[in-house]
Amino acid sequence: MGDSERVPTIEAAGLTKRYGEVVAVDEVGLQVASGDIYALVGLNGAGKTTLIRMLLGMIAPTRGTVRVLGAEVSAGDRSAWARTGYLIDTPAAYSELTVRENLHLIARLRRLPGPAARVGEVIHRLALTPYADRRARTLSMGNAQRLALAKALIHRPDLLILDEPVNGLDPAGVVEIRNLLSGLAREHGTTVLLSSHLLGEVTRLATRIAVIHNGRLLTEIDPHRLHGQTRRLEVATRDDARAARVLAERGLSPAPAPAPGDGLVLAEEHAVEHPDRIATALVEAGCPPTRLVVREEDLEQYFLRLVGQADA
Ligand code: ATP
Repeated sequence: MGDSERVPTIEAAGLTKRYGEVVAVDEVGLQVASGDIYALVGLNGAGKTTLIRMLLGMIAPTRGTVRVLGAEVSAGDRSAWARTGYLIDTPAAYSELTVRENLHLIARLRRLPGPAARVGEVIHRLALTPYADRRARTLSMGNAQRLALAKALIHRPDLLILDEPVNGLDPAGVVEIRNLLSGLAREHGTTVLLSSHLLGEVTRLATRIAVIHNGRLLTEIDPHRLHGQTRRLEVATRDDARAARVLAERGLSPAPAPAPGDGLVLAEEHAVEHPDRIATALVEAGCPPTRLVVREEDLEQYFLRLVGQADA
């Protein structure tokens, strides 16, 4: 199915939330297609949680609109609730009840058919079997997070909205949740929107990434194309000022390398793809390269550069 044929599961336009002087979310527009794993990444305080709360109808936007699963969301409106699972803030469970009892309670609240089987299924899915009969208050942080995810998943929702779902999990737990979420998207067509401050982690999982900073959606990234956006060509010559002029005359935008004395950096895709042409141009201008390297920026650097540009 082509992208254009897919009905967006979440559609937000001009979404804004102000708290007095603070603009927590600023004119955010986004579309999440059915079956997407859509990640919001941003530093602490970027506005991710506030945005998610508005998507869920937990708080009213100052301005803007949200549609979820075809229906307009307004604060207090629970119409999409039956088809949505969510995890937001500290996972709350009844601390004196066991894992199984907590899940039974949710299954009954949601009036699920065959509640015992559903509870068993979700306990197994979240690898909670060894802890099924432990009281919730005795769970480690990672297992408490698993229980919260089990509660979000028990009714097999079409849409999952998860605020920092891998918080508190150890590396093995992170991989487990990543596999669980990609399996749900792949096998059941579940749409997932999640937030994270770990760009590297979401790149392995997400089909699309939105970078949020100071309440604004800075850019959307296709993780599969990230590779092309994060490569740079570094060029050093005996006379970098002259080399910069030669390259600029050819329509390129050479910038000084971050470390002084390291030469020039070109970000243009055709420069990165064809360092031979750059070398030829420099040789013909009498300014041959002494070094020519394609470097891959790591994801954290890429993210910080984007955020840095936005701050500047
Ligand atoms: P974190 O990763 O730390 O959870 P976040 O990206 O989820 O951060 P938000 O919690 O949405 O960010 O906060 C965005 C901004 O809005 C912050 O400056 C925060 O202090 C402010 N903010 C959030 N909720 C409120 C509130 N109820 N009253 C006043 N300011 C708020």
